[in-house]
Amino acid sequence: MAVVCPECDNPIVVDVDEEEEGETVQCDECGMDLEIVSVDPLEVAAIDVAGYDDEDPMRTEDEEDE
Ligand SMILES: [Zn+2]
Repeated sequence: MAVVCPECDNPIVVDVDEEEEGETVQCDECGMDLEIVSVDPLEVAAIDVAGYDDEDPMRTEDEEDE
């Protein structure tokens, strides 16, 4: 099975017998890391490591501690 790299349209062959959801594959062409989000149908999503932002400005740690 093959998917097309969302970044450069390079076909990436994924052996679905060896890979499963949550595994990552790398595009040979552009080097982008892609996560397999689904194997049937085969679907990958780019992992945007640089844009990863887990901060929640609305988080409240205002506990009353008396
Ligand atoms: Zn690519």
